[in-house]
Amino acid sequence: MRSGSVQSAASKFIPASASLLLSLAWLAGPVVALAADTPSMANGDCWQVGTPTTCRVTWAGRSTFIYFRAIDQFSAQRPSWSTPAHDAVNAWNGAPGPQYYSFSAHSNDTWIYLNYSSTGQHGLLSGSDAITWNCNTSGYCQDTNSGMLIYYTDVYLNHNVLDSQGPSIIQNAVAHESGHGMGLWHNTTDANSVMWPSQSGIGGPDASDWGRYPGCSSGGHGTECIYGWGD
Ligand SMILES: [Zn+2]
Repeated sequence: MRSGSVQSAASKFIPASASLLLSLAWLAGPVVALAADTPSMANGDCWQVGTPTTCRVTWAGRSTFIYFRAIDQFSAQRPSWSTPAHDAVNAWNGAPGPQYYSFSAHSNDTWIYLNYSSTGQHGLLSGSDAITWNCNTSGYCQDTNSGMLIYYTDVYLNHNVLDSQGPSIIQNAVAHESGHGMGLWHNTTDANSVMWPSQSGIGGPDASDWGRYPGCSSGGHGTECIYGWGD
């Protein structure tokens, strides 16, 4: 389900069985080959060191959902990014898996700031579409695949690159960086994954991103894995 339509909470389902990253800076250039797929940290850790007891979600098992809220800090500068950004958020929201994602508030939601930015700011290199900084409760932020509790996320969208791109690339950038905010690392084995590490036309998550393929214990690291839905 990758349509841009808004899905109601009731439409979210828990599949009986599920049919997947360098720095978080996302270079528009060719894919950098990695030796192994490293989409996230260990299973069920919410991309953090330690136990789920310090995870953002109430650890209630497979039926636990997690709520993310996109914070618009770009449209004042780039109103044309609004539609593709909303399409990206809706794609994550409507996909199976534990994640809900909306520009609207929900109790216990985790905020993903979508910021307008420029080359040279916040670690954005020339040619980088965007960069994501995940931050803990102490305000310490990192853009690397290291375990941490993600308390909030700053995504910086590089207008120097994105101004020359169409809406599908804008949507792809927002969907991809938002995946980092949810705790996902890059997927280097599934080119249809939104977490594929280079620019693509993919506008939302696939089963590698939200699901367990090929199994949480055998290389799958979608949101179902990192939020404890298990195999
Ligand atoms: Zn990335």
